[in-house]
Amino acid sequence: MPRPTWWISQVIPPALLTYFGRTLYICFNEIGPSYLSAALGYRSLGRIYSLTSLILIPSISILFLKLYFLPSNQSLPPRHPPASITRKSVVFECLSPAETKAVREANDMGGDDDDGEPLVNRCWRGKCGGRWKPARARHCSECGVCRMGFDHHCSFFANCLTAPHIPTFMCLLAWTPPTIVSLSSPLYAPLSRRAVQAFRLSRTDEAIRTWWYGWPWSWVVTGGPVGRYVGGITLGWKQLDRVDGGGMMRLEVGILVGVGVCLALITTALGVATARVIMDGHLTIDRERARSLARATDAVNALRKAGKPVPPETLQAMDRWVDKRYFWAPYPAAPNGGRVVEYAGQPGPYDRGRRGNWELIMGKGVGWIFPWTAMRRGIDVETALNWPLSETALERLGLTSPTAH
Ligand SMILES: [Zn+2]
Ligand SMILES: [Zn+2]
Repeated sequence: MPRPTWWISQVIPPALLTYFGRTLYICFNEIGPSYLSAALGYRSLGRIYSLTSLILIPSISILFLKLYFLPSNQSLPPRHPPASITRKSVVFECLSPAETKAVREANDMGGDDDDGEPLVNRCWRGKCGGRWKPARARHCSECGVCRMGFDHHCSFFANCLTAPHIPTFMCLLAWTPPTIVSLSSPLYAPLSRRAVQAFRLSRTDEAIRTWWYGWPWSWVVTGGPVGRYVGGITLGWKQLDRVDGGGMMRLEVGILVGVGVCLALITTALGVATARVIMDGHLTIDRERARSLARATDAVNALRKAGKPVPPETLQAMDRWVDKRYFWAPYPAAPNGGRVVEYAGQPGPYDRGRRGNWELIMGKGVGWIFPWTAMRRGIDVETALNWPLSETALERLGLTSPTAH
């Protein structure tokens, strides 16, 4: 049976697209010409408003559709690493010596002459079946595959967000709040008055009082006291619409604006959080792991202080979250042409400073803010295959950067 998140993924994207379509229709056909131009007499404002809605809402929809219709094999790593990695001519992330040993023993690959030979990470979960798992690829449990530059699986567009598509995502997040605010602000005052009217009516209307406020379950179905009043206002609003037809201030417009305000808040928060993660040189999943590690460390310290035993599973999990990585570093002078080296501590191997981190993902300059350039930006597949180490990390490993002159 599909998980609840699967159902959410099926429902949210069509609901959002319906929302965009209906909003465009009402803004362009009703609020601009009938309300601003005809009813209030602001003729040019009405025209500008209609035109704004005609540009902004389809732009947002196109960005959204781009993410929604990303093919299921987007950012999928190849089955095997590219030749530069198999020939060991470049630096790349590999398994730790302990993991390498375990894999060799399990696969009967033994042989002492293989000592120090690097093995790349492979994923055996879901549909991956031993597929190569490059640095910064993660397995998405919703999609059942590993993706390069995995950020998170997003229920809003029912797809994985990966590094190559982050500029599209950020552009969508940047345009949604101003679009919603500019198109809904002429309606805030009249809709609030209508809502207050609806609330008053709901408190005096005999039927609503008995059937809604007097119904004990009204608390439960709407999730608490606030929801109960929202339900009351909705019923009162419907009643008002029945009496005067509602016009531009009908319940539907109230709901569209209400949903819009929630969407604007969510996208603002998401945009700020994502921008911070990018500048820190992380992807959302790294931040989640760092948080899990911090929580687990606190819990283990508390247990140790109290003299209680620490469950071995916790320590094992912490070992997975800890930021310790291994790299094959090509040293021409070394007998094997290189060596597996450990990299731990701060800054992380991929952290190139706030500006560098931002530019790697979003590109240089502010071009990402324009939908047509945002959709063409983002880290390319070649880069995502073998995520580039920072200058600092290359220096620490004793390797000069291939880009340094
Ligand atoms: Zn996988
Ligand atoms: Zn996914």
